[in-house]
Amino acid sequence: MSTLWVLGAGQLGAMLKQAGTPLGLDVRPVDIETTEELPLQADDIVTAEREEWPETAATKQLATHANFVNLSTFPQLADRLTQKQWLDRLDLATAPWFPVEENSTAAKAYQTLGPRILMKRRRGGYDGKGQYWLKQAENTEIPTDWKGHAIAEQAINFDEEISLVGVRGKDGQKYFYPLTLNLHINGILYASISPLARLDQYQSKAEEMLGKLMDALDYVGVMAMECFRVGNDLLINELAPRVHNSGHWTQAGASTCQFENHVRAVTGLPLAPAEIKSQSMMVNLIGVDLDYQWLKIKGLELYWYQKEVRTGRKVGHLNFCSADLAALKSALAELTLPAPYPEAIAWLNENLP
Ligand code: ATP
Ligand code: MG
Ligand code: MG
Repeated sequence: MSTLWVLGAGQLGAMLKQAGTPLGLDVRPVDIETTEELPLQADDIVTAEREEWPETAATKQLATHANFVNLSTFPQLADRLTQKQWLDRLDLATAPWFPVEENSTAAKAYQTLGPRILMKRRRGGYDGKGQYWLKQAENTEIPTDWKGHAIAEQAINFDEEISLVGVRGKDGQKYFYPLTLNLHINGILYASISPLARLDQYQSKAEEMLGKLMDALDYVGVMAMECFRVGNDLLINELAPRVHNSGHWTQAGASTCQFENHVRAVTGLPLAPAEIKSQSMMVNLIGVDLDYQWLKIKGLELYWYQKEVRTGRKVGHLNFCSADLAALKSALAELTLPAPYPEAIAWLNENLP
């Protein structure tokens, strides 16, 4: 069997490796800073755990391999400007926006998009980093170093944030997980719940939207679509051409998780329409120290990424899956984490069926 190389050696790469191992696949996440000569073979396959990367000795070797799946798609989606242009071209609803150019002014922005505008840097933003609010009430101006490097988006007063994770095979076959309800605090994902019967009414619309995009890009593998739900409408917030944090619950709650389906897709193996086991929820561990006492909580599944703990940094996640809703709620009651976790735990309690 050939080797599946993953550009990037963070938690997503580690979980892709974990998912590929029982299939007998040799999955090798690559630290982009490594200076080693990679023993790439012609029939190996390359995928990525991140949507963009600097040019290094390692990324140069991987990105010149003939079997780098979706290679041309990454720059299209990694740049928010071209990503938004794809959405407009395919007539997919998204938050109203315009490119921030050298001659853009805040006055014109307020005139076009309204009094609250979120600027997002075109490249490199994640976990809410690389964002800047323009507020007409405060007469915020566009800082010079944002001109030419950002898009401006209308502030959306959404009812809630939901996401869809789907997988597409080489033959165009597509499968989707049920919609996931997500809580972001200060731009970072704190918690997810899926499935939720009340979201079923948006499932086919969401599948149609993400499916259209995956087909247009002839995409192979897992892709995630983050949406704002505004009444009965779905507006696409952003797309991720990779496995996604809001799909981590599938490790506990689906017969085939997002990581395994991605590995299957890029290596050309049959995909699995995931059977959903029960009610799942996921809690991200952000800037908190590892505490093995968590393992005493019934049904808790711990993923610790072995990263240095820093404020605001994702260092692990907890998955729960059970048909017993009372058991899920009592697990939440036992989880004692610092602020803002009480808010996230209250949100989970409110949104569990
Ligand atoms: P990720 O870690 O998901 O990649 P990111 O840094 O790429 O995050 P976005 O997903 O674009 O950033 O934004 C982060 C969060 O900020 C969103 O989940 C949402 O809560 C809020 N947000 C983003 N865009 C808007 C908007 N137009 N109006 C209101 N809130 C927004
Ligand atoms: Mg993002
Ligand atoms: Mg996002």
